[in-house]
Amino acid sequence: MVAIPFCAPVLRLARYQPVIDHALQRVVRSGHYILGPEVATFERELAESLGGGHCIGVGNGTDAISLALMGLGIGAGDEVICPALTAHGSIVGILRAGAIPVFTEIDPASRCLDPDAVEQAISPRTAAILAVHLHGHPAAMPALCAMASRHRLAVVEDVAQSLGGHLNDRPLGTWGDAAAFSFYPTKNLGCLGDGGAVFTKDGAVAARLKRLRCYGWDAQRICHEAGMNSRLDEMQAAILRVMLPHLGEEVARRRTLAARYREALATCDLGLPGDAPGATYHQFAVTVSDRHHFRTWLDAGGIATDIHYPLGMHRMPAFPDARLPVTDQLAQDLVSLPIQPEIAEAHFDRIVGRIVNYWSQA
Ligand SMILES: *Cc1c(COP(=O)(O)O)cnc(C)c1O
Repeated sequence: MVAIPFCAPVLRLARYQPVIDHALQRVVRSGHYILGPEVATFERELAESLGGGHCIGVGNGTDAISLALMGLGIGAGDEVICPALTAHGSIVGILRAGAIPVFTEIDPASRCLDPDAVEQAISPRTAAILAVHLHGHPAAMPALCAMASRHRLAVVEDVAQSLGGHLNDRPLGTWGDAAAFSFYPTKNLGCLGDGGAVFTKDGAVAARLKRLRCYGWDAQRICHEAGMNSRLDEMQAAILRVMLPHLGEEVARRRTLAARYREALATCDLGLPGDAPGATYHQFAVTVSDRHHFRTWLDAGGIATDIHYPLGMHRMPAFPDARLPVTDQLAQDLVSLPIQPEIAEAHFDRIVGRIVNYWSQA
């Protein structure tokens, strides 16, 4: 019996291998390796795919969070309302910008920030809301953006898991004042190393971000504020330019697999993720009451699963504490099933069959 991996970007990339090889040779011969024509072109192409605006290529998704906040003038002493069920980078990004994460409860269906809880978390020091579209499911942007404008707060979207998604026909990443992307190899749009980007429609914020990603210097190489050294490199940008045109079909494949999971698992005793048409299904995470037993059963059938995430960030010593019962319950019950576009049909059928059989053997 062949083991089915949880995620194998190498299989996805194999389809594009000759084109990637060609792009990399072009970079090697070009003499430009940092902030050259590949990055500039990729930034334009990514912005166009989002309907216009400015993209700034940066070193990774964590830096993209920090830079998005810094570009909006958010830093020391400012509170940023955020979920605790997210990737570590969301929170480290807030702290590296000098700001304070304020962990706030999520909605159990969307697993994204609960607007009522956000409203209650607003204090005189609140400067921004970090909306994470967890697992690729859209956060409640209309409510969060309306609240932010009433309280004069910035909205930053963490689009690391949701590039290619939309809400009410509007691309995720274009709702807030700025958005952070990650191109870590397993993301919806992944490169072969670290990479990230910040998106904004505001030209002045974009100009500031272009300085902040490169020491903080201006065109004359004068620093007016200290920035970071966090630049997308030419190799990664060239790879991302090969992959970007295929993002739509890859997200469509994830949606197809999600719809098939929904249908096949409808009568099983597990909680399905919220059903939003614009979700990207970066993960297909179900809830199940005895997670360990369930995962052991799948593992014995050669099926790898994962957990996103087994522990809320509010439970980690590096971060502030909070009382978040919904978050804690989800952290205990969630299991991510394989949903990557590279899954073979026969493997998908085997996964579904094994899950359905779990209840007949239990
Ligand atoms: C991956 C991820 C990040 C961090 O991105 P890196 O490129 O690994 O720094 C931040 N937020 C979310 C939601 C992520 O999934």
